[in-house]
Order: sequence, then C-alpha cells, then structure tokens
Amino acid sequence: MADDWRVHKFGGSSVADADCFARVAAIVEADPASRVAVVLSACKGVTDGLLALVSSAERQDGATADRLEAIEARHAALAAALLSPPDAGEYGAELHAGCEDIRGILQTIHLTRDASAVLRDLVAGFGELWSSRLFARYLRHRHTGARRVEWVDARDIVQVEWGSLGPAVDWAESRKRVASIAGAAPPVILIVPGFVARDPRGVQTTLGRNGSDFSASIFGSLLDASEIHIWTDVDGVLSADPRLVPEATVIDSLSYHEAMELAYFGAKVIHPQTMAPAVEKGVPIWIRNTFAPENRGTLICATPNSKHPVKGITTIDGIALINVEGAGMIGVPGTAQRLFAALREHAISVVLISQGSSEHSICFAVPMSQAARAEQVVRDAFQNELTHGQIQSVDVAGDSSILAVVGDGMMGTPGIAAKVFGSLADAGVNVRAIAQGSSERNISLVVESKQAARALRSVHAGFYLSPHTVSIGLIGPGHVGREFIDQLLSQRDRLQRDRNLDLRLRGITTSSRMVLAARSIGAGLWKAALAKGEPADLSGFVEHIHADHLPHAVLVDCSSSDEVARRYPDWLAEGIHIVTPNKRACSADMALYERLQDARRAGGSHFLYEATVGAGLPIIQTLRDLRETGDEIHRIEGILSGTLSYLFNAWDGQRPFSSVVREARQRGYTEPDPRDDLSGMDVARKLVILGREMGLRLSLEDVRVESLVPETSIACSADEFLDRLGDVDAAMMTRLESARARDRVLRYVGKVDAGSRLASVGVAEVDRSHPFAHINLTDNVVRFVTARYNESPLVVQGPGAGPAVTAAGVFANLLQVCAYVGTHL
Ligand code: ADP
Ligand code: ASP
Ligand code: MG
Repeated sequence: MADDWRVHKFGGSSVADADCFARVAAIVEADPASRVAVVLSACKGVTDGLLALVSSAERQDGATADRLEAIEARHAALAAALLSPPDAGEYGAELHAGCEDIRGILQTIHLTRDASAVLRDLVAGFGELWSSRLFARYLRHRHTGARRVEWVDARDIVQVEWGSLGPAVDWAESRKRVASIAGAAPPVILIVPGFVARDPRGVQTTLGRNGSDFSASIFGSLLDASEIHIWTDVDGVLSADPRLVPEATVIDSLSYHEAMELAYFGAKVIHPQTMAPAVEKGVPIWIRNTFAPENRGTLICATPNSKHPVKGITTIDGIALINVEGAGMIGVPGTAQRLFAALREHAISVVLISQGSSEHSICFAVPMSQAARAEQVVRDAFQNELTHGQIQSVDVAGDSSILAVVGDGMMGTPGIAAKVFGSLADAGVNVRAIAQGSSERNISLVVESKQAARALRSVHAGFYLSPHTVSIGLIGPGHVGREFIDQLLSQRDRLQRDRNLDLRLRGITTSSRMVLAARSIGAGLWKAALAKGEPADLSGFVEHIHADHLPHAVLVDCSSSDEVARRYPDWLAEGIHIVTPNKRACSADMALYERLQDARRAGGSHFLYEATVGAGLPIIQTLRDLRETGDEIHRIEGILSGTLSYLFNAWDGQRPFSSVVREARQRGYTEPDPRDDLSGMDVARKLVILGREMGLRLSLEDVRVESLVPETSIACSADEFLDRLGDVDAAMMTRLESARARDRVLRYVGKVDAGSRLASVGVAEVDRSHPFAHINLTDNVVRFVTARYNESPLVVQGPGAGPAVTAAGVFANLLQVCAYVGTHL
C-alpha cells in the first residue's frame, strides 16, 4: 500500500567513512516509499572499539583515555566532513557529552576491575547513537525531497529482557510504545539507532553482537513494514563465506528456514535472530550491497522460487567432538536423556548430536571452550557406568569444525548426500561425525579443523561450479608454450559457451618468474604480467593451480626440463593431471617411468603426452587404440624428426650436406645448437616413448643411435661445430651416391621391433617407391606394422614439428583430459 513502511538497515561496513554516509543517503533518497525507517549500525569497528575500552579499563592498562579520544575524533571528523559548521558544532557537543558519560563509566570499571553486563552494554550502545544522530543531521542537511527526517530513540520503543536464549522482546510493551511513531504522517524518514534497547527497568541494553539486524526486523514487525532491506558489503547471501570460497555465488532467494539455518551455522551476513519477527509477520527481507545498489540482492521470504536444492555451505570452527562409547548403553532407555540433561544443567550448548542405530555410542559436538567441562560433566554423570565398564570411554576430539550444507530442496532430492560425501572423498577429507536433521534441510558433518577450508571448498565446487571447471598452470612459455596460451585463450569463450567447459589459465611460470591469477589470466596481458611477476617457486605455483575450490587441476609442461619432469610422480599422486610435449619424463630411466604410472593410478589422474612424438599427429593415440582393441604391434618405423626429415629431403647432392644444415638453422628449422637434432638423441627418446607404448621395457641405452655429430665436434661451441661439419661432407656424399646407384634415397629413420626387441635410429637407405621417400619437407611419418595392418601397414603422416601443430597437440590432450573427467565434448 502507498503508505506502507519500508525498513532499511545499514551495517557497520556501510557506514565506515564519509563517502559511505553519502552512499547510504543516496540509497535512502532513492526509495520512493512515503514512509521509510532507516536502522543504522555503529560505524565500522566502533562497537569493537568501545568494548575494547571496557576490557582495557578492567585491566587498568592505562590505554582507555587515548582510545576514547580516537573514537571521538573519528566521529568529529565525519561530522566536519558531512555537516555545516554549526550543525557539526552541535553534534560535537552531543558527542562530547556521550564521551564524558563513558569516561565516568570507565572510571567505575577501572576502580572495580569488573564490568557488569549492564555497564558493558551501556558503553557498547553509544556507537549506534552517534552514527544515527550524525546521519539524521546529514540527511536533513542534504535533503531536497519533501520527506521529514526524524531521529527516533530506539531505546524508548524496544523493550527486551535477557534470558538464557538471549534477548527476548516484550512485544506487547514495544507495540504500545511504537504507536508514537507508527502513525507518523507521510512523507517521512525515521532514522533509528540499531542494536540498542531498554530492559524492563528502563536501563539501556543491547540486542547482542550484530544486533542491528535484529533491530531492523523488530522495527519491520512493529511498523508492519512491507519489506526489510538489509544493506551490507556483499551482493547478498552467498553460497559460502566469500573469504574462504572465492567462487561463492549470490543466492537468488532463500526461505526463512534456510536463512535461519545458514545464519545459525555461521553465515555472518545475517544474524539468526533477525528472522524471527519478520517470519512471524511474513515480511520479506532483502540482503543487498550498499556498494552496488544496482544489484538485485538475495530475497528471503516464506516461499522462495529458487533453482538450487542446496543454498549454502558454511563452517563453524572451534568445535570439539565428544564420543561416549559403551556396550552398556545398548537398549537402555533414557541414556541420551541423562547425558543431555546433565549437559544442559551445566549450561553447555550442544551444537550437533549423532547416534548410531546400534546405540553403542553417542557423539556430540560442543564449542571447544566448553569441551573440558563437558567431558567432566559426562564422566560425573556416568561415573557408575564407567567404573563398571558399561561405558568404556569418553573421548574428546578437539580441533574440529562443523560443515553444514543447507537447503530446503534437499528434501526428497536423492543424491545430495552422495554428492557431499563424494566431493569430500575426492578432496581427501576425513569425516569424523555426521548428522542430518529430520527436516532434511541441513546435513552437518564434523571434520578436522585443518581440513575445514578444503572441505568447504570441495563441497561448494561439487554443488555450485560447473563440474567442468579446470584450473590450468603452464610451465615454460617458450615457442610452444606461448602458442598454446594463444590457442587456449582464443578458444576459451567458445568452449565455455558451447561445451560448458570453464578453462581457467591460473598461472604461468618460467624457471625464473611466475604470474598467478585467482580466476584466470587475461588474453593479451600475460606477457607484461609475467615480466614483472614474482620469483618462480614451482611448489607454490603447483599449490596455487591445485586449488581446493576448483574441481580439476591440469599442469601443462611445455618446458624441456628434467627437473620439472622429475616432479611429475608427486603431482600425479596428488590427483593433478599432466599434459606435456616434454619428452624427458617418458623417456627417462625405467624406474621413473614406472613411478609415473603408479602415481597416476594412485592419484586417479591423467597423464597425456601425444605431442612428445610427431607434434600434433595422432601417433601415440593410434598406437593405444590398436593395442586396446587387441591388435598386436610387430614393428614401428618412422621419420620422427622434422629437422632430420627436412635435411634429408632438401639435400639433393648438388651441394654439401653441411650447407643444408647451415641453411636449415638460418630458417629456424633446427634447434639453436643443431647437434641436438643431429646427435639423433631426440629421435631416440621418441623411439623409447613409442617402444614403451608398445609394451616393451625400453630405455635410452637400449637404442642403437647413429649420430651425425663427429666425435671431434661433441665438445666444441655450436659455431665451431658448424665450421667443422664439413668434415663429414665427403663421407655423406659417398653414402648418398651409393644409395642412388641402387635407386634409393637416404632418410634418418627410427625403428623398433617387438620380436627382436631391437631399437635403432640412424641413416637408412629406402627405395624410391617407399612412402618414406615421398614426404613433404618437414613431415613426420610413422608406419605401424601390426597383426591387422600387415600387408599394408598403417601410416600416419604430416607436419610433425613447429609451435602451432605441437601446441595444438597439447591443447587436444587437455581437452581429452576434460573428456575423461566428464565433459561432453
Ligand atoms: P555488516 O557490517 O553489514 O553487518 P557483516 O560483516 O556483519 O556486515 O556481514 C557481512 C559479511 O559476512 C560479508 O562481508 C562476508 O564477508 C561475511 N559472510 C560470511 N558468510 C557469508 C555468506 N554466506 N554470504 C554472504 N556473506 C557472508
Ligand atoms: N554494532 C553492533 C555490533 O557490531 C551491532 C551491529 O552492527 O549489528 O555488534
Ligand atoms: Mg552484521
């Protein structure tokens, strides 16, 4: 209705400084409602500061005067910034009078060294009085609209009585008192201090920490408001605490029950008590962001319309789990009742209870601070049973945390618990106890505190992230690495759109520098970021990539480093997938190779290295497919080096072999030191990889290698080597001529034979009609002679070198990993 009240509440973070006050004013002014009540918290940190004064007076530590002055000065500075000088002067006088009152109270506390709850509350409430009075003056000062601005003393309206369950509102009395303002003629804006109230004796009290939310809800009920808006510093209720889960997303809507449950289980954004008065009246509550008022926020109401069965996941730390165990409890009625009655008598709050159906044990969780007392209470209560062995043990597991998964929609949705426990198992989190309320609105479990953040992130990822979110780290942005980054970044949006695949390049490292991103490294920016990146630290890098809150991690190793390759087994064992064109690991000694395979199996991770042989050509995959389908590989032979392929294709005998090498180097077809190609070791490594894929236990020493580097040139510089390369020209020319005499050509060929287990690489003569004689300049070609492909072998041929095709091979492997972990490509 037109004259309905609308309540806005701004938390401490929304009134932290002068800019914040301006923002709040703009939000209030923008509300077209004709009757608005604005509940304010104390300025950020002020309640803490005031309570610290009380503690400091109790300790007599001599710091109270300075601290109080600082609080007064902060408010005076705000007034100076926001109000006209005369207004600031009046406000300053009120402020000062308040500070004098506080000084008097602190003096009493100082002398008695003991602050009663009454005194503590009295001091704590000043922050709200100051912020709201300041805001009322400021709004009047800038107000251009027709609405009156009135400051309301909430203490004269809200009456509460403190009991064991916290502050209880005396509704009858409070309703009587609200009449004075509820009928205020529109248009009006009431400014109300949150947090403060009076007890039945008329003494000022508070509504407990974070009580301004409660104030908002109480006023919402008292004024029969149509809506309550709680303004804070986040976009609404998030699916998890954003400080622990960077991926947390705003929940569109929640039921009152869900919000209450979340609040109770530690979602600090709303205070559990807040809801009760609003629930009773069915007033919808919006949680919104003061710093982004254009965002919709979260709606909390009786019948929300949300697509998520699980709304939020929270943790509470500082919990101890107490387990009472004994065969004597089986079938004995009333044991649990005795246990919990004893705890209640000693005012120990039990946060969670779980009992197995065998009744052999009962376990319950209490705040860590009450653990020792709780243990003693249980021992005393069951002293007899303990002495007689009917109860065998009372164990306390400290350092525990509760993880709660909350959502109305979990009811009747099968598989929610399976997902929770599946996510925890994947993350290696051990669950100490489980409890599910019969409402099925909450699954709570107890985990070791040091695993709590990991548990929270992994369960959150299970419910909220695309299961196809992949955290990617690139090691070695050289020619291939850079090209891979370009390809990945250029396809990322398409893959996200068409395949729901969220590929996040979250780190790049060289051997000296690294750059890390919380979400993803942007296209075009990474080179500059890397140039001024932090010093490289491979362990820190991998830890960042293997983030708990993301479902999958893939390291893409485009270095050619032995040192990096030696780390693979550890990474694979941790569940990190590896994709690489680096031949080092797969051609290393058999012991490392076997450790790799064991680690991969243990970690359930994938290790793909198609680009180690023939760049992007499907060679390893073809070989695997042949074997997996039961074919028998007899022999593999091929031209496996783009460089050597080029050299023998380009050398027509019209000029010396060495000049072809020199030219190839100039064109960038060889490694900077051509001996790396001509030694044949690169081809030998590839052959080892293929041999092992065939099932042979082949090592580099087993391969007979014909090097084209003369013995005398092994130790010299690259340039000297090129100068001396002419030494081989004559011999090479003779070989070429003799081959030609038999209508053959020379090619640098690798062969591995399953029967004889022989592997060799070197210059071979092949017939002019042989497929190896007719390949394009830098092509690679591989022939598989198998049981099925016998008469006519299976041949894979094509460009087998160069950054673009190699990077594409790596990228294809990355997508293959995504497919293995469940993406439908
Ligand atoms: P205010 O000063 O507005 O009262 P609080 O600090 O009391 O704000 O509450 C807001 C904070 O609660 C957020 O900044 C956020 O860090 C924290 N928080 C914890 N859990 C959640 C959650 N599930 N959703 C939103 N915020 C949360
Ligand atoms: N200022 C009080 C507190 O910090 C109440 C509130 O802000 O909600 O606890
Ligand atoms: Mg709060």
